[in-house]
Amino acid sequence: MRSRYTVPQQNSGFTLIELLTVIAIIAILASILFPVFAKAREKARQSACASNMKQLGLAIMMYTQDYDGVLPYYQHPFGLAWYDDLQPYLKNRQIIVCPSKSEWNPDDATHKTGYGLNETVFPSGLGSPNPPAAIALAEIGSPSETIGGADKNQGNVYMVGQSFSGSSSWPYNVDTRHNEGANFLFMDGHVKWMRKGAGWSRSNELWDLN
Ligand SMILES: [Zn+2]
Repeated sequence: MRSRYTVPQQNSGFTLIELLTVIAIIAILASILFPVFAKAREKARQSACASNMKQLGLAIMMYTQDYDGVLPYYQHPFGLAWYDDLQPYLKNRQIIVCPSKSEWNPDDATHKTGYGLNETVFPSGLGSPNPPAAIALAEIGSPSETIGGADKNQGNVYMVGQSFSGSSSWPYNVDTRHNEGANFLFMDGHVKWMRKGAGWSRSNELWDLN
């Protein structure tokens, strides 16, 4: 007599439908998880970028102490960029490259740095016959509320700020490449990530000498 518990004989292996169902489930899980992984990787790069910016802030302070409290220009009268003036204090070229723009090479003529200084605080030293005076650190009343620099977009421009924005409500050249936002260096040395639109539009007084 046939046991009632006997499993009916089946064809061995999977049916096509079962196989397709498993593949579909894997595909759905992957499509859910991959954006999460990408976001986590970008978050890590954002942290590394904030660390770079913190070092840049320290280098700026060291430079300022050596130059009687006066900040560097974003562009030196002899054509050097700010990171050339800071190099004796940084002693590292890779630190001027944002990890999310790691394809940019500090020794490349057009794509050197992922960071730009605020042109209001660090004006251009170019200008004839007399370049504008550099800003003294003591002129900044609220360093913690004054942006010193930010993630920037164009490789061969070394500043960010208000004056070249045209009709845009956004400051010139800031790049929101870190999870819909950018890292900002403040003049007291702290670094903060701010989402696009969160208090750093062109008209915001964080860009002024406060
Ligand atoms: Zn960055």
